[in-house]
Amino acid sequence: MDLSLSETELAFRDEARAWLAANVPAEPLPSMDTAEGFVAHQEWEARLAEARWSVVSWPREVGGREASLVEWVLFEEEYHRAGAPGRVSQNGIFLLAPILFDHGTPEQQQRFLPSMATGERIWAQAWSEPEAGSDLASLTSSARRDEDRGGWLLNGQKTWSSRAAFAHWGFGLFRSDVAAERHRGLTYLLFPLDAPGVTVRPIAQLDGEAGFAEIFLEDVFVPDADVLGAPGDGWRVAMSTAGNERGLSLRSPGRFCAAADRLVELYRNRSGFETGARAPSSTTGGDHHRDRVVDAWIAAQAYRLYTWGTVTRLAAGGDVGAAGSVNKVFWSELDIALHETALDLLGPEAEVESAWLDGYTFSLSGPIYAGTNEIQRNIVAERILGLPKEPRGAAR
Ligand SMILES: Cc1cc2nc3c(=O)[nH]c(=O)nc-3n(C[C@H](O)[C@H](O)[C@H](O)COP(=O)(O)OP(=O)(O)OC[C@H]3O[C@@H](n4cnc5c(N)ncnc54)[C@H](O)[C@@H]3O)c2cc1C
Repeated sequence: MDLSLSETELAFRDEARAWLAANVPAEPLPSMDTAEGFVAHQEWEARLAEARWSVVSWPREVGGREASLVEWVLFEEEYHRAGAPGRVSQNGIFLLAPILFDHGTPEQQQRFLPSMATGERIWAQAWSEPEAGSDLASLTSSARRDEDRGGWLLNGQKTWSSRAAFAHWGFGLFRSDVAAERHRGLTYLLFPLDAPGVTVRPIAQLDGEAGFAEIFLEDVFVPDADVLGAPGDGWRVAMSTAGNERGLSLRSPGRFCAAADRLVELYRNRSGFETGARAPSSTTGGDHHRDRVVDAWIAAQAYRLYTWGTVTRLAAGGDVGAAGSVNKVFWSELDIALHETALDLLGPEAEVESAWLDGYTFSLSGPIYAGTNEIQRNIVAERILGLPKEPRGAAR
């Protein structure tokens, strides 16, 4: 792995750094899980898009700058270092767009990608159902053929759909052939969340905001033009990018390196390091806290280096595959460790300090979303380490 950057890459990084320094809002935006914050984040997406920073790796004709994978990682590092707002368009640009590029028709790409790049249309992922989370292939929401109208009728219930309370369109898997094997007979469909027959019911998160929603579908008509990939091939289409979500695109290391730097800063402030007036060790928990700060910082750097390794492998034609599960477990546990350490340093103050506290409550969901860590450990055990397969029926 060669970590030296070319002149072009350095120029790209400097341009991104300068633009972010001049444009990142001085005050944090309101939470994107509120109506007001959602719109404020959409406006930020539009600003990014105007300067072509919203989807740097995409082709120019759909809003990108054709940046390489290395440049994409550099941009992500700069983005988080600058403390820029969370991406309200993340489901679309990181989860749906790669599938659209690989499996979408040119017409679908033209119709959906530009408004995703500008943040005008925000997407919700409608995969999970009340009885189908880890075992996604057991989903029962159906797509029934409507020959007369040339499309499909959707029925069923989706749940835990992030940002669906305010989003505009959903992408999800539906059972289109009940007679087929579990993983077959599924179709990947795109549908507007305001279509007749769709009811969206917000679900409050731990912090009280409507971070998720349930989506109820009753005879919702979707034309053939909105099927992604071939009918019945939805599982393969969906899984073609799941490794990327866990392993690279969803949680870039810049996010954790920036949090680790803030943690170091917090420790320095609380220990009186800046002023030279060192606080008694009881304020900072002494060596114990210091060691945890150091461990968290090193872990964030390790994750960064591992990601550069992944990028090098991908650039050489490899894929993320099952190694994405190693990453998923690592980044989700790192996020909790970073935030727990900060709360311990803050002591009772943590209860009124909202940034670390908000980050902590969100970090608790890391081992659940993008595939639970128990399932990721099964994947690591079976596919990477070659351990015996989990006995059937012993799961829960
Ligand atoms: C913050 C957040 C955002 C989310 N956003 C979305 C979204 O936008 N769209 C969407 O579709 N979904 C979303 N989800 C849902 C998420 O994908 C599911 O919660 C997840 O897949 C787990 O499914 P489940 O909740 O049904 O739990 P279950 O599958 O019922 O699992 C319950 C527990 O049993 C364990 N378990 C299950 N099977 C096994 C096994 N074989 N071996 C060992 N342990 C096992 C699990 O690991 C878990 O600990 C989100 C979840 C969270 C927390």
